[in-house]
This record gives sequence, C-alpha cells and structure tokens, in this order.
Amino acid sequence: MAYKVLDIYKDLPRTNCGHCGKGSCFAFASAVYLEAHPLEECPHVEAEARTAMQNRLDEGRERGEGRRPASSERAVEALLETFRQEDLAILAERGGGVVVTEPEEGVRLAFLDEAYLVTRRDVEALGGGSPRSG
Ligand code: SF4
Repeated sequence: MAYKVLDIYKDLPRTNCGHCGKGSCFAFASAVYLEAHPLEECPHVEAEARTAMQNRLDEGRERGEGRRPASSERAVEALLETFRQEDLAILAERGGGVVVTEPEEGVRLAFLDEAYLVTRRDVEALGGGSPRSG
C-alpha cells in the first residue's frame, strides 16, 4: 500500500513545532517523501514508530514511489495535485498556513523553508523566486 505525503503527515505529531528545521509537519512530510529527508530529523517520533514509517517508505521506494523528483517542476505538480483534491482550510491547518482570498483563493504557507502562496493552479514564491526552477 502506498505511503505518501499525507500518510507520512498523519503519522507525525502534527504540532508544527519546527524542531526539525521545517516550517510545519506537512513541510517535513513533503521533504521526507520527495527528497528522502531523514525521518530522524523529527525528534518527536518514537523509535519503534519511526522504524515502521521507514519500512513503509522503503517498501514504497522499492516500488518506485517517493524518490526525489527529477526537477522542482515535479515537486510543484505533486503539491498542486494535493491542493486540487483537498479542502484549503484543512490543508492550511495541517501545514500551519493561512487561507487567503486575494488575489485568488489559496494558502500562504512555509514550505521547504520558503514562503509560498499555493493556489489550486500554481505556486508563487513570495520572496520573488520561482519554485519551479532548480
Ligand atoms: S515534523 Fe517537525 S514540526 Fe512536526 S513534530 Fe516533528 S519536529 Fe515538530
């Protein structure tokens, strides 16, 4: 069974404490899934639970899931896929972000250590950079 960003997120403490260096548990789950960021960076998951999570990640990777995308474009598309399927208010709550309605409906949140406005159609880096480059 697939073990993806939302599954990882559900297995995290969901306190958005930031001790992992990410802006939220959702950002951490994304980094674990998309970049193979080490689960050990979250100090609040018990060793037994972390081992179970890692086993599920490893099984998924053997099936070709969760590897680092070939480009940032794929990471953005993966994020947008989630945003098209989920309620924005719920995503904002999960990610420690804020729902905004101007200039269009979306969520302003910290993701992979940067501030972004994520709508259902695109991601805008609020610092002026492009999340699709790199
Ligand atoms: S994933 Fe990061 S933000 Fe979430 S509980 Fe762990 S250390 Fe805190």
